[in-house]
Amino acid sequence: MYNVIIVRIDNLVWLGLIIVILAFSCKSSTEVEPLPSPPVQQSVANIAEKHELDYDISQWKEIINTNGPLLDIRYATDNNFTKAQIYDCARCFLRPELALKINTIHSDIKKKYGYGLKLFDCYRPRPAQQKLWDIVPNAMYVTPPKKGSMHNKGLAIDLTIVDNKGVELDMGTEYDFFGKEAHRTYVHPDPVVRKNRKLLKLLMEAHGLTGIRTEWWHYSLKTVSYDFSDWVWNCD
Ligand SMILES: [Zn+2]
Repeated sequence: MYNVIIVRIDNLVWLGLIIVILAFSCKSSTEVEPLPSPPVQQSVANIAEKHELDYDISQWKEIINTNGPLLDIRYATDNNFTKAQIYDCARCFLRPELALKINTIHSDIKKKYGYGLKLFDCYRPRPAQQKLWDIVPNAMYVTPPKKGSMHNKGLAIDLTIVDNKGVELDMGTEYDFFGKEAHRTYVHPDPVVRKNRKLLKLLMEAHGLTGIRTEWWHYSLKTVSYDFSDWVWNCD
């Protein structure tokens, strides 16, 4: 009789132990630290969406790198003739009419030759023009802020052509080279350079853009009118 009771008590003790162990194992499994969630990938679409929200779309259009021209906004780096960074970040804004033309030219040249456009400078806020002038107060190289540049209106663009690998076509000089070799009328000894410059000129002029005498890379749209602007884009 006592033996039977002892055996049952033993069984109950074992049963209790098993329940306690199970309970702890369940508890500990629920307390496992959750794995850190993977970093949120900011998609290009998100960036574009974010940027579209932070400027006045009735006044400006942003040229986005994705499927569009390459951006090499030199004044957002110190890789420019002033050796100083002028813009806080690299973004390319143009007045909508000019932006439409640039995107069209880029698509056309891509379809026809497999080439593309590369943009060095777009809209340049007047405070940035002042900054350039403060560093290089020489009207031969920088338009005086009081006079104002077509860039300050968002109606000028500095650009070149790139091949299907994104390599710049040889235009004979670097961007922002100040010398007669950069002049539009300069006859470069290399026929390839002459051909490349002619292609850029023909493309731009076919879309109603006009160049200036001293810079092969600069074109502007003079068929629309906008005021000079002090607006500076967001870099957050
Ligand atoms: Zn320019």
